[in-house]
Amino acid sequence: MRTRNPLIQLLKQCLPEANPIAFSESDDMFAWKVGELAPVQKFPTAATWKYLHPPGESVSWHKQVWFSGHIPKHAFLTWVNVRHRLTTRDRMRRWGLQVPASCVLCSSQDESHQHLFFDCSYSDAVWSHFMVKLNLQPPRSFDPLLSWLTRPSSNSHLVLIIRFIYQASKYAIWRERNSRIHSSISRPPEALISEIKDLIRLRLDPLSRSLAAAAASSSTNPSVSLMATWLSIF
Ligand SMILES: [Zn+2]
Repeated sequence: MRTRNPLIQLLKQCLPEANPIAFSESDDMFAWKVGELAPVQKFPTAATWKYLHPPGESVSWHKQVWFSGHIPKHAFLTWVNVRHRLTTRDRMRRWGLQVPASCVLCSSQDESHQHLFFDCSYSDAVWSHFMVKLNLQPPRSFDPLLSWLTRPSSNSHLVLIIRFIYQASKYAIWRERNSRIHSSISRPPEALISEIKDLIRLRLDPLSRSLAAAAASSSTNPSVSLMATWLSIF
């Protein structure tokens, strides 16, 4: 480009020389490069997703909370609990809120997380019903119980069932506690036990069928189905 304009002449001097176009025998092609990975011709969906959404730090309780087949509302409450975000009365009082200290389930002790889910006679009646039937004696405090749930049995069906019971019991107890605070409705432990059994049986039915179908397609038929394991105990 020729010009007498001094400004454009100065600009031309500053710009690098244009590279000559390299002619090639082969056609141009697209290549997708994600992060430090080598370029590939096929768009790498999974690698791109992981690059844009880096996975968080792995936690030891992941399988106890988000196990395959979990009931979403139960898993969510367990996750809130794992993050120590349940607003029990002892916490609210520490924040300066004027709320009664006593446990609404038994009225005999102050409400704390440890009391509500482990030491309370009401909660114990719910949780123990299932543990006695399973002939198990798990730890009676939060963190040790969570660790125990990593592998509470050598039977994979029982592991799943125990995790379902843990989450469903926690959910039912927390809901009963809230129901007593916000309304005058209160139910006995037997009502919660019955409700928990119905919920788990409803969830296990389709889960058991899909596991059986997967096992049949891979020619690894288990001797006892998930549902049969549940029915043999409850
Ligand atoms: Zn209590």
